[in-house]
Amino acid sequence: MENKTLLEVKDLKVHFPIQKGIIFKRNAGFIRAVDGVSFSVRKGESLGLVGESGCGKSTTAMAIAQLQSLTAGSVMFEGTDLTALKKEDLQKMRMNFQIVFQDPYSSLDPRMRAIDLIAEPMRIYAKRGLLALTESEIEAKATSLMDVCGLSPTFKGRYPHEFSGGQRQRIGIARALSLEPKLILADEPVSALDVSIQSQILNLLKDLQQQFDLTFLFIAHDLAVVEYFCSRVAVMYLGHIVETASSQQLYHDSLHPYTQALLSAVPLPDPINARKRKRIILEGDVPSPSKIHKGCPFVERCPKAMKQCSLTPPRLKEVSPGHEVACFLYE
Ligand code: SF4
Repeated sequence: MENKTLLEVKDLKVHFPIQKGIIFKRNAGFIRAVDGVSFSVRKGESLGLVGESGCGKSTTAMAIAQLQSLTAGSVMFEGTDLTALKKEDLQKMRMNFQIVFQDPYSSLDPRMRAIDLIAEPMRIYAKRGLLALTESEIEAKATSLMDVCGLSPTFKGRYPHEFSGGQRQRIGIARALSLEPKLILADEPVSALDVSIQSQILNLLKDLQQQFDLTFLFIAHDLAVVEYFCSRVAVMYLGHIVETASSQQLYHDSLHPYTQALLSAVPLPDPINARKRKRIILEGDVPSPSKIHKGCPFVERCPKAMKQCSLTPPRLKEVSPGHEVACFLYE
């Protein structure tokens, strides 16, 4: 892994207006899906973004890819602010970062053959004059990507419904690789798959990372998957990052009460260790992201909350090299 920063996200906010009224629509507040998120991803690393459903992980990925408008903040890719780019420049830049979606079935056009699904991004960019490949070169590259992703090229004429879930995800991965991106935004890439298939796809992604020098922002709610795949992890709660650390630090010495609760629920393979471990059950549900929090976003469910936690928000602060936490317990 190089020390060069590939992606830098600063104070990213994505707020959705809540509209009320049938004829005369009025604004009745905002859903604060992402509320001031900052992090960076170094070239060649895999950063895991974890948290419960609805915490803002996928919205963050869509905002990074500029497929969702930002309310505030910046997204720097190799030093270029993507939010400041004109449409044509952004299209060109998009070749560098591609998304692998959670559900390969709904993200693939059911009327297209596997080979065309993989070739489509190349055809679009070639048509725009941004990729110097002929049609036969595109077809050859798509065929080779099928092979690289573990799909027999003899399947190239098949349609998505003729593949299993794991095979469809392999098509989605081959498609994402077709423009030779530097960064893959993998949004829950294995959570729709059977457990037995998950490890095959994770191993494939690891091999591809080596082979193509890829960097990953890996979004998941399953901490065991993230531990296996990612070198660093950022934990999100209610649109905020509450802790970032190396996988090693996070899984052996987590600091934030929310991270500790999440980790206490991860199944352990060893039944003796599993019996010894104390499960932290969080009270209540995740509050609505439309609620304005004066203090810590986790205060309503935190078993260690103190008076000051309701008054001001804790800042994400480095407490040891590479380990940041947003919690007054460590200030
Ligand atoms: Fe809990 Fe307070 Fe820390 Fe928030 S700042 S996680 S409420 S102890």
